[in-house]
This record gives sequence, structure tokens and C-alpha cells, in this order.
Amino acid sequence: MKAVRFVGVGKPAQVVELPKPEPKAGEVLVKIGGAGVCHSDLHVLHDGIGIDHSFTLGHENAGWVAGVGAGVRNWKDGDAVAIYGPWGCGYCHACMQSFENYCENWKPGQAYGGGLGADGGMAEYMLIPSERLLVPLGKLKPQDAAPLSDAALTPYHAIKRALPLLTPDATAVVLGVGGLGHMAVQLIKCLSGARIVAGDVDDSKLEMAKKMGADLVVNTKNEDAAEKILKFTGSRKAALVLDCVGVQPTVNLGSRIVGMNSHFTIVGLGGGKLTMDGGAAVPFGCMVSTPYWGSRAELLEVLALAEAGRIHAEVTHFKLDETPEVYNKLHEGKIRGRAVIVPEANL
Ligand code: NAD
Ligand code: ZN
Ligand code: ZN
Repeated sequence: MKAVRFVGVGKPAQVVELPKPEPKAGEVLVKIGGAGVCHSDLHVLHDGIGIDHSFTLGHENAGWVAGVGAGVRNWKDGDAVAIYGPWGCGYCHACMQSFENYCENWKPGQAYGGGLGADGGMAEYMLIPSERLLVPLGKLKPQDAAPLSDAALTPYHAIKRALPLLTPDATAVVLGVGGLGHMAVQLIKCLSGARIVAGDVDDSKLEMAKKMGADLVVNTKNEDAAEKILKFTGSRKAALVLDCVGVQPTVNLGSRIVGMNSHFTIVGLGGGKLTMDGGAAVPFGCMVSTPYWGSRAELLEVLALAEAGRIHAEVTHFKLDETPEVYNKLHEGKIRGRAVIVPEANL
């Protein structure tokens, strides 16, 4: 089968031929319908994740069950599934609560999941180590639903933590309206009554944010971006700043516009620094957090919203062979919403 591989830090992803995997006891084989192209893959390719061996990329995956190992009871061939991405031990306190994204037994150097150290979904087939990591897709199509397992699940988890603050008179600000950000705007809209501001450096992304429900869009390249946002929020400032970029300019902007007793939630992994600066980095009572991905139960919730037609990922489909070029496009900021890699046979 064809697969897109990480072959070393600083090297482009490679499309190679691999044998089709066989599910052993407890494992499930999934025929991939779609694998989302996340910006985290660029961090993996450029900076690495502390893993030297090569592996198949793609950590936002959905498809159909295509074989089960001995002992697998809950799935049969043809079932449409989303693959839960962060693979924990399954037994610690966090995993028991379905927060495998915060598994207590994960150690540096270990794979985070399929596509992030273990073989992922940018391939015709993917092996899942346990049936507990599959979630039913219902009537959603794998090639459209794949990004929900990360681009939607990550902001969903982040926004849920701030929901008590998102009253109808409050403002939530989403910085970066890419794969995660375009889902974040929709999620805030359907989970809360808060007013939504979206910031990006690209006007075409801001156009999309408007369509997704943003009340105000601001090009953050402009020097008056903070003033514009603060004029809109009033003295209370933002109750939630969800930074889906995490670079120095967004971290700086976020700390200027976030209010007292608020949430400054940074999911972007752009390497920006927030300095305590004698206690003045953020206003009093502001909770700064760096959530990672989401829980299995939250993935069910996200899929339910999508099945009800209340959120959707804006996707563009590409073939496996096109993946290295798609990574270049993502790096150049030329992907709108989410690119999804679809094996040729399923396009
Ligand atoms: P993306 O490339 O699809 O979107 C990034 C968006 O940010 C684009 O619209 C771009 O125009 C905008 N942008 C770039 N620089 C900006 C700036 N200075 N100010 C405002 N906007 C700017 O990326 P994505 O797939 O949505 O991922 C976003 C970030 O989130 C990445 O760093 C990724 O690694 C990270 N991520 C984190 C988690 C987690 O669990 N914490 C999960 C998935 C992705
Ligand atoms: Zn990701
Ligand atoms: Zn665990």
C-alpha cells in the first residue's frame, strides 16, 4: 500500500510503498477514507518530536473497519469510524476518564499516537492498537469528518473549559482561523452566547471566519488590531482568548486583550513566550493554559454536533501522492480550512 512517511527531522515527507498491515489480537485494521493535514505535522517535519525512527504521518483520521484481530468484539468490516488520536495506556486515572490526551504513563520519546511516532493514517490502511480508540461516525463521511478528530476536538476541549465565562455579554477571541481556528469559531457560536472576534494575518481566512459566525474580524498585521478588539469588548476585555497560532505576535496580542478573571488558552505550538514580568504578563485572575487535544468522550460530542449539521470542517481533498506539495501549501498559508488526504481509490 501507499503511505506518506516522516523520514527524519528537516527532510520532506516521502511517499513510499509498504506492505498492507495485518491486525493481530486486539487490533483493528482501518481502511482510510481521509487524513487531515494538521499544522503540527509541519512542526514534526521541521523540528521533530523526539522520535528518530520513520513512521507514517497523519493523526486526524477516519475510515472504515477492514479487519479485526482476535478478541475484538465491537466492530465489524465496513463500520465507518473516526480514530481517536492521542493513544494513552488506557488504565491510568486520566485514561479511565477518557482523557488519554493526558495519560499519566506517557513518557518523552514515546509515540503520542498514530501519525505522531506510531504509524498514522496517510496511507491506504492503518492499524489501530485497541478497539477502544475507535468512535462511530454515524452518517458522516470519513473524507469530510477526519479533521473533526483534531481540528475540532482540540478547540472543543479548550472552549469547554471556559464555558462558564462565555455569557452573552462576554467576548471570545480566536487568533488564527486556520484548521483549528475555523472550527473554534463555529464551536463558540454553537456552545455559547458569547460575541466572537476572529484575528488572522490573512484576509481570506477572515472572510471565512465571518461566514462561520464571527461578529468582528481583525487583521492582526495592522498596528491598531488590539485597539479595535478592545473597542469591541469594552472595559471587560476578552473573557477567552483562544490562541490557535502560539507565535510571539499572537501571545503578545492575546496578553493585551485578555481581561481579568479570564482564560488565555494557547493551543498553537508556535513557540511564543509569555513572560511573568513581575506578575504583569496577564491581568489578575487570568488563567493561562496550554490544553492538548481532547478526550474520547469529547470526540463523541464533537461528532454529534457535526452529525446534527451544527458544525462542519471546510475541506479540500488531495491524493496521497500530493501530500508533500500540500505540506508546502500549508507552510505558505495557502490552505483554507483543512486539507484532507484521501487514498486514490476512495476519492
Ligand atoms: P493552520 O496552518 O491551518 O492555521 C494557522 C492559521 O494561523 C492560518 O490561518 C494563518 O493565516 C494564521 N496565522 C499565522 N500567523 C499568524 C499571526 N502571526 N497572527 C494571526 N494569525 C496567524 O494551522 P492549524 O492546523 O490550525 O494548527 C494551528 C496550531 O495549533 C499549530 O501550531 C499546531 O501545531 C497547533 N495544534 C495544537 C494542538 C494541541 O493539542 N495543542 C492540536 C492541533 C494543532
Ligand atoms: Zn494536529
Ligand atoms: Zn493512561
